Formats: sequence, structure tokens, C-alpha cells
Amino acid sequence: MTATLEIKGLRATVAGKEILRGIDLTVSSGEVHAVMGPNGAGKSTLSAVVMGKPGYEVLAGTVTLDGADILTMPTWERAAAGLHLVLQYPTEVPGVALDAMLREALTARGAGADDLDARLLEEAARIGLEEPLLHRDLNVDMSGGEKKRNETLQLAVLAPRIAILDELDSGLDLDALRVCARRIEAETEPAGDEPGLGVLVITHYNRLLSELRPDQVHVLVHGRIVAEGGPELADRLEIEGYAAFADGDGLADDPADDGAHATPPVVRPGSLDELFASGP
Ligand code: ADP
Ligand code: MG
Repeated sequence: MTATLEIKGLRATVAGKEILRGIDLTVSSGEVHAVMGPNGAGKSTLSAVVMGKPGYEVLAGTVTLDGADILTMPTWERAAAGLHLVLQYPTEVPGVALDAMLREALTARGAGADDLDARLLEEAARIGLEEPLLHRDLNVDMSGGEKKRNETLQLAVLAPRIAILDELDSGLDLDALRVCARRIEAETEPAGDEPGLGVLVITHYNRLLSELRPDQVHVLVHGRIVAEGGPELADRLEIEGYAAFADGDGLADDPADDGAHATPPVVRPGSLDELFASGP
């Protein structure tokens, strides 16, 4: 059955500050949606609110999976319902090995784990994760690339319906990026009766999107989506920088904001890194 994650009018605060200021976004099975934006725009906050990380307060709006309100569910229930988050900064879990964690997760959601060892070996080989890492404490003393390969393997084994990838590309070298992105892209293809994975991919960079081609690109600035379009929008962003999209982000609407930022910064040539480094 096709899965649909629907975010409507979502406003949320963290530490007393409104970070998400009205987000509308819908992701269905087999679709890839990219969310791009500068540092501090609220991209990780969006993923945290959708997965139910403690400390975030929803002020308004709804988030549903196939029509069911997920905001009232604890995080494990959201995961069991088919939502998955690939963390920007994977958590180290001393004392819990990857294989043990995945066995528990599959068992808890009533999926069989009998062939797990074989599946893990197959997936590890497919994405170039060294076999001993399967049995080591989760993410402990792993390199950035190993952690992200590890996250990708978890996604492949757990087979969620909708996945959010929060900067999968950070800490990954180009070869690893290609392998991980292709693995996830493969999940978006329908298999038999199963529709493909729906993906919300959060990234600064086009290079991830050249492997995991988005159907739609959403530009998130200062807690709002200020532009939407097809893959060409990511290409345009790469060339023009994010400053071109700062116009109309409603910065002056924030009562805490004196409006000084309302004038869009001058568009200047340079890498996205440079432009993003200045923040919202
Ligand atoms: P992005 O992922 O787009 O770079 P984030 O969503 O991480 O941005 O952060 C948006 C803003 O929210 C930042 O100003 C950040 O400091 C703040 N923020 C996010 N999480 C927390 C938190 N747990 N406590 C306090 N501030 C937070
Ligand atoms: Mg982030």
C-alpha cells in the first residue's frame, strides 16, 4: 500500500524559540523530495519534530502518516508505523551492537529476523561496510563514513515506508556517498507488491542529489519553505547561491526581528558553502 507523510502548517518551538514557522510538505511512496537551506534554517528541527525527539513543542499544524496523527505517538510507534530517520550525527550506543539492535527492532515490529545474519552480510558487502563493524558497539569509535554506511545499512534492513535523511552526505567521502545514495535510490523502486520508499532528503549539496534524484526540491529558509520546484531548482541554487531565495522569506514578520535582515543579501558568486556559512 502506498504510504503518505503529510506535514501541514507545522509550527514548532525549541528552547522557547519558534524555529518552524509553517511548513507544508507531502511525501509519498517512491517519491524523493529534497529540502535544502542554510545552516540554522530548521532542517534538523523538522526531522526531529516528525520523529518525536523530546524538547520540541508543536504550536500548530499536523503531521500524519496515511491519515493517522503521528504527533501523539511515541517515537518507537512512529518507527513501527514505517517512519525512519537517518541522523545527521549518528548516536554512539556503548554496549549495544548493530546486529543486536536490528534484531530487536525487527522483532518488536513483528517482522521476522531469522535470516538477519545473512541479510547483514549481504548489505554490508553491498555498501562496503566491514563485517566486524556489524558486531561492534553501535557507532562507537567509528569514522564519519562508517557511521553513515551503518545508517544506510539500518535503513536497508528495516525497510521503512518513508525515510528522512538528515545530511547523509556529511562526513562521507565521494565514493561512500555514491554507494549510500545509490543503495537508498534502489529502495525507492517498487518491488513486487511493495511500493518504493518515499524519501525526504535534507542536504546542502547537489552532489548527493546527482545520485538520489529528487522529484521535487523545497528551499527552507528561516523556518519556512520559500521556493519549490523540480530538480532544476537544486541546479539553480548551486549556480546562484541561496541568497537569491532569501527574498520573501518573511524575516521581518518575526516580532523578535527588527527587520534589518529583510533586505536580501547581495547575490555574489561563490560556493554554496560560503553562502550557507553566513546563516539566515
Ligand atoms: P539546520 O539543520 O537547518 O542547520 P537546526 O534545525 O539544527 O538547523 O537548527 C535551527 C535552529 O534551532 C538553530 O538556531 C538551533 O540552534 C536551534 N535549535 C535546534 N535544536 C535545538 C535544541 N535542542 N536546543 C536549542 N536550540 C536548538
Ligand atoms: Mg541540521
